[in-house]
Amino acid sequence: MSRRLAQLAQLPVTELKGVGGAKAGALAKLGIETVLDLLTYYPRRYLDRTKEARLDELEVGEEATVLVTVVRTSSRRTRQGRSLVTTQVTDGTTRVELSFFNQPFRERQLTPGTDVVIFGRLEVFQGKRRMTNPVVDLIGDRTGRIVPVYPQSEKAGVMSWDVARFAEEVLRRAGEFAEPLDDAVRARLDLVERTAAFHDIHLPESMRDAAVARRRLAFDELLRVQLELVRRKRELERTAVGIAHEVGDGRGGALVERFHSALPYDLTDAQRRVIGEITTDLAKGHPMHRLLQGDVGAGKTVVAISALLVAVQGGHQGALMAPTEVLAEQHHLGITALLEGFTVPDTDDGNLFAGAGLDRPLRVVLLTNRTPAGERRRLLADLAEGRVDLVVGTHALISEGIEFASLGVVVIDEQHRFGVEQRAALRDKGSGAAVPDVLVMTATPIPRTAAMTVYGDLDVSVLDELPPGRTPIDTRWARDEGDELEVWQQVRDEVAAGRQAYVVCPLIDESEKLEVRSAQETYEELTGGELFGLRVGLLHGRVPTAEKDEVMGSFRRGDLDVLVATTVIEVGVDVPNATVMVILDASRFGIAQLHQLRGRVGRGAAASVCWLVGEATTPDGESRLEALVRSTDGFELAEVDLDLRGEGTIMGERQKGRNDLKLASLRRDREWVVKAREVAVEILDADPDLERHALLAEEVGLFLGEDETDFLLKG
Ligand code: ADP
Ligand code: MG
Repeated sequence: MSRRLAQLAQLPVTELKGVGGAKAGALAKLGIETVLDLLTYYPRRYLDRTKEARLDELEVGEEATVLVTVVRTSSRRTRQGRSLVTTQVTDGTTRVELSFFNQPFRERQLTPGTDVVIFGRLEVFQGKRRMTNPVVDLIGDRTGRIVPVYPQSEKAGVMSWDVARFAEEVLRRAGEFAEPLDDAVRARLDLVERTAAFHDIHLPESMRDAAVARRRLAFDELLRVQLELVRRKRELERTAVGIAHEVGDGRGGALVERFHSALPYDLTDAQRRVIGEITTDLAKGHPMHRLLQGDVGAGKTVVAISALLVAVQGGHQGALMAPTEVLAEQHHLGITALLEGFTVPDTDDGNLFAGAGLDRPLRVVLLTNRTPAGERRRLLADLAEGRVDLVVGTHALISEGIEFASLGVVVIDEQHRFGVEQRAALRDKGSGAAVPDVLVMTATPIPRTAAMTVYGDLDVSVLDELPPGRTPIDTRWARDEGDELEVWQQVRDEVAAGRQAYVVCPLIDESEKLEVRSAQETYEELTGGELFGLRVGLLHGRVPTAEKDEVMGSFRRGDLDVLVATTVIEVGVDVPNATVMVILDASRFGIAQLHQLRGRVGRGAAASVCWLVGEATTPDGESRLEALVRSTDGFELAEVDLDLRGEGTIMGERQKGRNDLKLASLRRDREWVVKAREVAVEILDADPDLERHALLAEEVGLFLGEDETDFLLKG
């Protein structure tokens, strides 16, 4: 009889020896309530006693794990008021000092005589050898060669050795585990059996065994996620009824072709290919659910309009959602201009000549939170009765009370700003039973494997070619004040040459109010100083719409030389004559944001420059700015970003509930994400409802129950 994980999920941890009320309470704080929770509470790392470093052999700058004994500990406050605990430790060869900032509990934890494992980088400070904020694990006096080190909560009162003891008992009593993977798949991917994997992750004989075990269990996690995503995607394809749009001979149909031939340029090959992929989807009877990735400036807007026009030419409506008012207004202006003079067949029942082959102008409207009440009411009525063909807007578009006569295609621009619920809400706006086709566009490239997990329910198109004639943006880092003089000199030079510039104000996360104030101060300082005599405009979140329009309009027409702004200009703003981007306090911005901001220049034929101003305040900040200077490739930057931030943040944006990815890392296990996807597809191809894979089905439900997967699937 082999043990199913679902059975272990039924057993409370109090079933284990030595887990009474107090320990159970402490374990609960770590999220461990059932025996399964304990089994899947994995070691953070292992201490290989054959490989322990000796303090006297450590080089300065080297990172190492050392088993040491505490000699003495003291604490004080630094001049900045931070708590500082200082501990002397020895491993019998020599001593080092450990400094812990803002960890006052260390004083109680690290009493003289305590054995601990430390992991840190050896440095020399004021002549003393020391480590700052090393990782500390209390391991007790286990004598095994490989010691598992469990994440422990200092405050919870559960020690690593407690967890190790409990895990050992679980393994002993559970015996054999049921094996959900076919032998053939295991053999092909060279994965060990599950029983061995659970044993070796907790009680490995060697580091290699631990690594092999980890690989198997991580694969199981990834496979569960992929099975669920692929299954849901297929279910949607099977059951959701969409609109089978008329797309002509594959080029989108007459209206789209007319749009393309009216453009002042030729489409790039990538644009053509992607439009092809989209129209193929649109022609199908089930709703499209596609992600379009394309670097800043790759020309996503034209692709978006093409998709929207497919809907319009079939008598349906299109909606384009942007993350900010500025961008919505910008899109509305741009689209109105591009579609000037376009007509559609008039099918309005209230019109006497409807159906008589007469056309009416194609109507594009803007709808945001700032649309005045009266106009809004009229627009809503027109939308509901089909007198509007295309609507551009912000979140306001999905607020209650908006009805469409027949919403055919929805495009969501700059996805990273949109919540999952909002995406789902808009999709529900379809009239009758038909679900509209959805295209999500993002200029924040998501590494392929991450996309596969986080957006695993979407198909992906990639716009991987910039329109011709762009000159690469020269990115420079002005670290100190001397460099800054050069920055402003260049702004003045470019303006003198008839060009324009952006200045982005420091990011202030805590409050919009502070950010607005800082923007105002920056504006005043610059106009009274470095940029004196130039025509400078100011734009931030609190500027009233009418004024915002005016400022943007002036800048677009060239009536302003410089635009001082907060990140409201981050996405979409398109003024080809702007050639300088100055980002103040640049290290406070994330990579994606910097890349977006930089993308506001380099849109015309003239050479552009992006200045990153200010010292980096953290090592990560330094790495970010260096990456920006080195590369203008959004996909490369996305990989750097993933390395710096870890996958937590990527998942974090979408994920609220608990997450099954305890071992698997989207970053380290990139190739395994791909393999898991392949296996999931293979299994579901042969067995769509997992009827012959009952154990897998049970585990998907167990680990990715409704609550946990909602985030992955609704969006
Ligand atoms: P993004 O992908 O960042 O949204 P946009 O759609 O705003 O990019 O396009 C950036 C600029 O490139 C715009 O000025 C647009 O008119 C121009 N553009 C788009 N496609 C082409 C093309 N095929 N050839 C030349 N210019 C193009
Ligand atoms: Mg865009």
